[in-house]
Parts: sequence; C-alpha cells; structure tokens
Amino acid sequence: MNQPVLISGGGPVGLFVALLLGRAGVGVRLFDLNECPQNDPRAATTHPGTLEVLGQAGLVEDMARVGLVAPKFQFWDRPSGRKVAEFDHGLLAGLTPYPFVIQCEQFKTAQLILERLRDLDNVEINYGHEVIAAEQDGTGVSLRVRGPAGEQTHRGAWLVGADGGRSLVRKSAGIAFDGFTWPERFIVLTTPFDFEAERGYCPRSYFADPDEWCNCFKVSADGPPGLWRTVFPTDPAASEEALLSDAAVQARLQRFFPSTTPYEVVHRNLYVTHQRVAASFRAGRILLAGDAAHVNNPIGGMGLNGGLQDAANLVEKLVAVIGGADQRLLDLYDLQRRTVATEFVQTASIGNKKRLEERDPVVRERNLDELAQIAADPARAVQFMQNSAMLASQRRAASMTLQEAA
Ligand SMILES: Cc1cc2nc3c(=O)[nH]c(=O)nc-3n(C[C@H](O)[C@H](O)[C@H](O)COP(=O)(O)OP(=O)(O)OC[C@H]3O[C@@H](n4cnc5c(N)ncnc54)[C@H](O)[C@@H]3O)c2cc1C
Repeated sequence: MNQPVLISGGGPVGLFVALLLGRAGVGVRLFDLNECPQNDPRAATTHPGTLEVLGQAGLVEDMARVGLVAPKFQFWDRPSGRKVAEFDHGLLAGLTPYPFVIQCEQFKTAQLILERLRDLDNVEINYGHEVIAAEQDGTGVSLRVRGPAGEQTHRGAWLVGADGGRSLVRKSAGIAFDGFTWPERFIVLTTPFDFEAERGYCPRSYFADPDEWCNCFKVSADGPPGLWRTVFPTDPAASEEALLSDAAVQARLQRFFPSTTPYEVVHRNLYVTHQRVAASFRAGRILLAGDAAHVNNPIGGMGLNGGLQDAANLVEKLVAVIGGADQRLLDLYDLQRRTVATEFVQTASIGNKKRLEERDPVVRERNLDELAQIAADPARAVQFMQNSAMLASQRRAASMTLQEAA
C-alpha cells in the first residue's frame, strides 16, 4: 500500500482533512494528544461560505439538528442601549444555498465528523498520541509519536499540521508565525439566562462600548433553552484568579446586563488572543491548515471557518497530487488560503474589534451610523454580508491561479 498521509491534530480541522482524504480513498493516520475532542466553549458560528464546504461533505443537516440556525445578527450601542443595525442572511438567498449561520459548538462538529470516520477502514484515528518530532526527506515524512505503548516513528508520504496555534509541525518546518498578541485576554462567561426572551437580543449580538465591548451569542448546548456565551475583554494587569472569581464574574455580567438575581454561570474561560499568519502553508511535504496556519480574535467567528475552508481546499489538491498531478498545486493551496487569511480574516477580525472598542466619540458615531446605513440599504447589506459570511473570501481564493503561485 502507498504510504499514508499523516495528520498531527484531531481538532475539527484535522478531522475534516481526514474525512475528505479518507472518502477520496487515501490512507490516513491521525494523531492527537488528547483522549477525545475537547469541549471548551470556543467556535460555534459557522458561516455560509463554510456551510457550502461542509454541505458537500453531507454535514450541514446534522449540524442544524444539533445546533441552531441563526439567520440574523445585530449590532448594539451598549452605552445608550440602542440597536444600531440588524442584518438578515436571507438577503443572500440568491448567492448561496445556505443563507444563514449555524451556531454549532465545535466539539459537536468534531463529533459528527468522527461518526462518519468510523465507516472508513483507510483512516486510523489515534487519540492519546502526542507528536513530539516531525521531519521530512526527499521521499516522505517521519513523525515521532508518544502514545500508550511508548514512542514510535511513523512514516508517511505527506504531513498535515492541524495541531493548533502552537503547532509543533509548523515550528519543526521552521515556518515563521508573524503577527501580534493582544494585551487583553478575552473572557467567555456562559449562562442559561435567556437574553432573547428577556432583552430582545438575537443569537448573535455584538455590543460596541468604548469601556468594555461584548459579544453575546447563543448555542443549543444539550437542548432547549440552550446557553448564552458572553465574551468581554479583560484588564491586562488583572490576574487570572481575580478575573475568574465569582465576585468578578457576577460584577462583570451585572455591569453589562443588570439583573435582579445573580447570574447562573456554567463556564468561565480566559483566552489569550493573537493575530498571526504562517509565512507559508507549505514546506515541501509538510502542509499547514487551521489554527496551525492562522489565528485571529474571535469577533466575527472566523477562525475555525477559515480552517475548515483550508481543509477542503487542501484535500482537493493533495488528492490530485497523490494521483499524479503537478505538486505545484500545493503551492496554489498556500497562495489561495494564505492570501485570504491575510486579506480577509485578519483585516475583518481586527476591524471588527476596533469598531466595537472605538473610543473617539466622533469616529465611534461615524462607524455606528455607517453600519446602520449599510443595514438599511439591501445592496450594501448584501456586499457587507458576503464578507462577514466568508463567501467573498472563498470566491477570491477560487479566482487565484497557478500563474500567480509561480
Ligand atoms: C472564545 C473563542 C471563540 C471562538 N469562536 C469561533 C467561532 O464562532 N467561529 C470560528 O470559526 N472560530 C472561532 N474560534 C476559533 C476556533 O476555536 C479555532 O479556530 C479552532 O479551534 C481551530 O481548529 P483547529 O482544528 O485548527 O485547532 P484546534 O481546535 O486547536 O485543534 C488542534 C488539535 O491538535 C492537537 N495537538 C496539538 N499539539 C499536538 C501534538 N504535538 N501532538 C498531537 N496533537 C496535538 C490538540 O490536542 C487539538 O486537539 C473561537 C476561539 C475562541 C478562543
């Protein structure tokens, strides 16, 4: 049998690469250091541009069943309590089969992919296995892996690094990860408090506030009534212990959303947030995808979306190369996905954060007015949403050719 494709990382991106390769008949061996997919409260928002890719793999119906279909999102001015703008993905109906977002927690997406992987004999999924070294030579790649049976070396034809922001694969390949880290960490507080029924917020609501912006969004969790995740910036000087204490958590929620009773808080998590893009998504036989290749702040929900789009783009080309096509197709993968990671995702996620936290009252008012005007004009709203829904980035990537990769 031909050498398999090795994958380091069994988060949603690594699993999706494994599924698509496996279905194309390619042998795959995947390793992840955890015992199973992690269920911390990270990605949920899955955009139309990504649903197009997941739909081709037959995942969307199940994601809608275990998640929430959310056609609308809103912007609010927190100090005045004014709703500034509401966008309805229904306006995109002529442009995509999926004119809505699905709020599906990333561990559920991972679980749905894992269920499908069980049917594929050519894909081996090894949780509880840490990749400790990665190398390549002229004919293939070698991974040193530490698992329950000790250390072993695995040989493959290609290696996909889907091992997250701290990617050992990226570091082993000597690929730079330039960008910056935000000084403030982001805190995620999850509560069953029903912001829709009590306050009229829709399942994706963004709050601009010069003192403390907020994202408030709903996930279906274990079923109705679901849970709401609120995301805030934190004081860089404060300790983790102080930020996560009961008193601080209650004070933060009460300051933002006053309530006569204390909030029930079911999760509290603190995240360091970066804006970085790998200098290349390919080094010979080593390919990067997902957070291993690019990281960004979560405002707008674009990180995992970009990673799943990487996976589909990469697999299409890798399967062709394994079948005998020119390896330069993989340079095209690098060009297409790195370009949109920089031009679209970095620009949009940084812009989203700046819009919510703007302190200059004149600029702030101008930004909010502009949002209101865009929302009120269907043609401008469609253009705006093609970017936020990550359709424009997919179209841009598809338009780039091998000549540009030369
Ligand atoms: C608060 C928050 C909210 C977010 N919301 C959204 C959202 O709504 N929409 C969105 O698109 N994105 C969102 N994101 C971003 C999203 O969570 C990430 O982009 C996503 O997890 C990336 O998936 P991945 O599979 O590339 O990496 P990961 O999920 O990080 O998975 C990497 C895997 O690699 C494994 N691994 C690492 N090192 C090794 C090793 N040496 N050996 C073996 N295995 C290894 C890890 O165990 C892990 O399972 C959010 C992030 C945060 C923090």
